[in-house]
Amino acid sequence: MIPEPAQYLLRFDDLCPTMRQSQWARVLPVIEELGIRPILAVVPDNQDRDLQHEAADPEFWASMRRLETAGATTALHGFQHLCNSVGKSLVPLHERSEFAGVDESTQRQWIRAGLSMLREQGLNPKVWVAPRHGFDRATLRALRAEGIKVLSDGLTRIPFRRGGVTWIPQQLWEPAEKRLGLWTICTHCNSARTAEMEALAAFMRRNARSFTSIDRVMAEFEVRELEAGEWMYERFATLRLQASRMKKRLLRGPRRMRLG
Ligand SMILES: [Zn+2]
Repeated sequence: MIPEPAQYLLRFDDLCPTMRQSQWARVLPVIEELGIRPILAVVPDNQDRDLQHEAADPEFWASMRRLETAGATTALHGFQHLCNSVGKSLVPLHERSEFAGVDESTQRQWIRAGLSMLREQGLNPKVWVAPRHGFDRATLRALRAEGIKVLSDGLTRIPFRRGGVTWIPQQLWEPAEKRLGLWTICTHCNSARTAEMEALAAFMRRNARSFTSIDRVMAEFEVRELEAGEWMYERFATLRLQASRMKKRLLRGPRRMRLG
């Protein structure tokens, strides 16, 4: 069943000790004030220079633990966030990614190492968030083998099961009011502009009661393989998004497409 009225999940990508603090500091107090329980997509061993904005924050891990205690869900966001592989992803939005196309045993080693790094910091990662939406069937097998049964990705309006994993859809990169469906808004504090953070904070205030959490979604939805209607919706949504990204790329030039 597609939920009506709409429900929202908030997801923060690229969290790591060297992330840009200023934009994160704009939304964190709002999340805490409103009791919103986001997905925290944490890079366990960041080596991506695009995510090295500041000296490592000594409080970073404690603040992630505090949010998790308050109901946020920690997600494993890749391993080192180095997108050196060219492989076809199950969510085909980028040419390069960290995982898609990498051999399965390496993927499994990275997932295992990433999970143990997050656990060593006292976190309890339950969800997979692929850098640049890049993951393939081998990733799904490796996740299952390492005990991760849920991922955040896909362009449907409801959670579903595919490849033995529960997919909780992620379809928005900025807030948008919706009538029905479950919508995950993905935010990149490292590259967001102040106006975008302010718009997100205003959206959270307007829709605070419509925000849900991974724990609630897992308890409330009956998750199955997609039926034909929603499968078609997903295909069309993918084509639409690919076309709009292609257009943006042509208009802006090849740099600065950091959507995912
Ligand atoms: Zn990322």
